[in-house]
Amino acid sequence: MKLIFWGTRGSIAKPGKGTIKYGGNTPALEITSGSGNKLYLDAGTGIHALGNKIIKNNSPREINILITHSHWDHIQGLPFFKPMYSKNFKINIYVSPNNSFNPEDIINRQFTSQFFPVDKDVLQAEIEIIKLNESMNFQINDFQIETVPVHHSKNTLGFKIQNDNKKLAYLTDNEIFYEGELPRLNDIEEKNKDLINFTKGVDLLVHDCMFAFNDYAQKIGWGHSNNLSAVLFARAASVKKLLLFHFNPEYNDNRLDEICADTRNFVKENSIDVDFELAIEENAYDI
Ligand SMILES: [Zn+2]
Ligand SMILES: [Zn+2]
Repeated sequence: MKLIFWGTRGSIAKPGKGTIKYGGNTPALEITSGSGNKLYLDAGTGIHALGNKIIKNNSPREINILITHSHWDHIQGLPFFKPMYSKNFKINIYVSPNNSFNPEDIINRQFTSQFFPVDKDVLQAEIEIIKLNESMNFQINDFQIETVPVHHSKNTLGFKIQNDNKKLAYLTDNEIFYEGELPRLNDIEEKNKDLINFTKGVDLLVHDCMFAFNDYAQKIGWGHSNNLSAVLFARAASVKKLLLFHFNPEYNDNRLDEICADTRNFVKENSIDVDFELAIEENAYDI
């Protein structure tokens, strides 16, 4: 498989001189299977550039997008996803319902006059909304997909995607639980068994890193993780490679470089066997 990030930022898009290296768009990911099939994850602002690429490359007619949850940063790009306006495409949007949000609302609510100048009748593509729920196992083309509930707002999902015997886990917007000031491996193992079991041994884990360790203390319970808990979680799950992702819009490239260096020191000082990097927008990663 191959993975390209079209957005690496959490919460709100942050373009500008300070975010050129790691990127400023909110989450949208492109996965390509060994035989060339495509699967897309989330529809943040990064899906705008991805949509342009799909149109330009005359990509296959059927598009499959898995949405982790309906927070703005994961759906806000949909009205600007050009294939939606072309009758050449069939677009399947997979999303889990929650108490206040029907899956169909992912389109319906965005195309109301409060938020958008025209209504959804302008959409030419054939659009199908497919309901997901927790703990599903299903197939799209040659991708085998599993869902899991994560530690975030209710009904937020994580995904595990398998193709050609390689596995990718995508846990964006997930809070790794621990107690005490510094995260410890055995405490993380104890309090996150559900997701450690789900990600055990994957080839690549893409995980939330919204906060630097020092900033996390003020945001406990917000449904996001920090750089140190993320590397310990990856170690606990014996993942082969970790990509930290969903960066705080307050952090510019220099701050993210510092966070990367702090994480390397932590990993070295504590002899944690983890191969990690910070995800970079428009970079391709082989799995
Ligand atoms: Zn988010
Ligand atoms: Zn969220």
